Amino acid sequence: MEIERHEYDVVVIGAGGAGLRAAIEARQQGKRTAIVCKSLFGKAHTVMAEGGAAAAMGNVNSKDNWMVHFRDTMRGGKFLNNWRMAELHAKEAPDRVWELESWGALFDRTKDGKISQRNFGGHEYPRLAHVGDRTGLELIRTLQQRVVALQQEDEKLHGDPEAYIKVFQECTVTRLLKDMNPAHGPNGAISGAFGYWRENGKLILFDAPAIVLATGGIGKSYVVTSNSWEYTGDGHALALLAGANLINMEFIQFHPTGMVWPPSVRGILVTESVRGDGGVLRNSEGKRFMFDYIPEVFKAQYATTEEEGDRWYTDQANNRRPPELLPRDEVARAINSEVKAGRGSPQGGVYLDVSTRLPSAEIIRRLPSMHHQFKELADVDITKEAMQVGPTCHYVMGGVEVDADTAAAAVPGLFAAGEVSGGMHGSNRLGGNSLSDLLVFGRRAGAGAASYVNGLEGRPKVSEEAVSDAKAEALAPLQRAGENPYEVHHELQRTMNELVGIIRKEEEVSEALESVEKLKERAQGVGAAGSRIYNPGWHLALDLRNMLLVSECVAKAALLRQESRGGHTRDDFPGMSPEWRTKILLCALTPDGSEVTVEEKVQPPMRDDLIKLFDRDELKKYITEKELAAFDALAK
Ligand code: FAD
Repeated sequence: MEIERHEYDVVVIGAGGAGLRAAIEARQQGKRTAIVCKSLFGKAHTVMAEGGAAAAMGNVNSKDNWMVHFRDTMRGGKFLNNWRMAELHAKEAPDRVWELESWGALFDRTKDGKISQRNFGGHEYPRLAHVGDRTGLELIRTLQQRVVALQQEDEKLHGDPEAYIKVFQECTVTRLLKDMNPAHGPNGAISGAFGYWRENGKLILFDAPAIVLATGGIGKSYVVTSNSWEYTGDGHALALLAGANLINMEFIQFHPTGMVWPPSVRGILVTESVRGDGGVLRNSEGKRFMFDYIPEVFKAQYATTEEEGDRWYTDQANNRRPPELLPRDEVARAINSEVKAGRGSPQGGVYLDVSTRLPSAEIIRRLPSMHHQFKELADVDITKEAMQVGPTCHYVMGGVEVDADTAAAAVPGLFAAGEVSGGMHGSNRLGGNSLSDLLVFGRRAGAGAASYVNGLEGRPKVSEEAVSDAKAEALAPLQRAGENPYEVHHELQRTMNELVGIIRKEEEVSEALESVEKLKERAQGVGAAGSRIYNPGWHLALDLRNMLLVSECVAKAALLRQESRGGHTRDDFPGMSPEWRTKILLCALTPDGSEVTVEEKVQPPMRDDLIKLFDRDELKKYITEKELAAFDALAK
């Protein structure tokens, strides 16, 4: 069977915000660049992003600046973030948003014509640049328009619009290829990527010395999720299989507000903008319960009465924000507790009400997608009645360990940006910080890949043996009449939801790991016999390898981390431990690829000028005595 072959300098896997921004950068730096995506071009999670992109532009409150944004991001991540990434992100996000404007994006405006910014959980000032509740759509539209503009330029210069940047859509990558010649170092070097066309099942090979992973999240390992079908952790698994490390995999963000009814739409996201724009959470007794759940570390920043919380929407200088706007992990846990205590709504969530808080026309103006979503999917008019909402698996903080400045992974030639990379958000991501992360680190990954290619002395070679292994692996499920892959997938989703969900216990996570082991064996035997033409059973059979690997990482890291922090809550270890904050958990694969190993790695201490941005009283809630002594010495 023929394998279609292409040669590029940089192959970007993923066409969400991170992938497109990386590809634009690589092309702008003169590299022949391919963009490969398993869904249609433009259909990525980025397009679904609603609330906005966080960037300290100070348009709505001039007190905002990168230092406040940096502090908020570190607090949101409970100080486990890669501080260099958080610093670069806070400093560069405004430029990336302005750059989008210069490429044609149309953000909502303030009365005086600046880019408007909205409130979101954990952000001290209104910071999210937005377009109604359809920000991701505008972001993707603009980046795609930029790709087309570059292609038009190439047509003029080279007579071929696809000479320097070409999109391969509905094309799934299943393996990264490496040249193991010792001249490239002990880890070998990337030489290409292998995959298949979803539509006709034909095989495809990219010969390229640099790969940027921008494949997004892993939500499809859980039953209740805001993620769509593509998010099977492919990039995470591809990186592991290529010899790179994943970090922070125990930290999964359960967004507090997903739809809970009807069952067919369970998990679909209800944007945080509903709360940012005044929506409140109530239990079945009508109580605004979030006031009972303000943790000690956040007491100083949040209102303790409904009156103060309500005043904050119009006078932020003299009031503290309402606790509905606590970081997502706090709100998700609170909803979970209310439902468990029997104070939930009839369909097992709580009530989110904006109807009594804003005039109807204003709700439709500010939250058009939410209005449409509830009307169409649940027959609920959010201008007249409350929504029922509950936590949904939304985002993975963990991902490929990368160098903050270049987005390079441990394997030469491999780069990662966006949700597939790890570190930036620590143990919990603030809303709005993903869209800005994609732009900041997408650009850096494209630049990192281009500069790596410039520095190469010889082009790493594609090994024909590796191609033949990748081909055999890809075609295997078609040649078996084994178990239905959907059975294995459903069992994995249930296992992860029930045993490695919001609240975790040692026995349950251990049980999940035993199940994952058995599912790994079953996955070896799944079959999708039949045609290669649009065979979704075959596609799922291949995706299963990735979801199982990622789930093993999540469960193993969750078992090891004996504390509760951000997106990892251990019932048996309820508090945050300063000792654990200094540790990162690193997942890797054993050389034979059969098992995930997890080991502790010490997190480098924060640079002096950055740690000095925090108050001692706040720091002492998070850091060890030794770190505090070092901080005191700095202050002298
Ligand atoms: P994605 O946009 O997820 O794109 C991944 C790409 O990789 C896709 O093109 C996919 O086809 C491709 N891909 C995956 N696997 C393969 C493979 N094997 N081969 C080839 N291609 C592959 N964040 C915010 O900051 N603000 C918000 O308001 C916000 N709202 C959100 C609303 C929803 C409903 C969801 C689900 C998320 C939201 N987020 C928000 C999070 C944010 O949208 C995502 O984290 C972000 O878009 C991820 O971008 P990305 O570029 O990393 O990947």
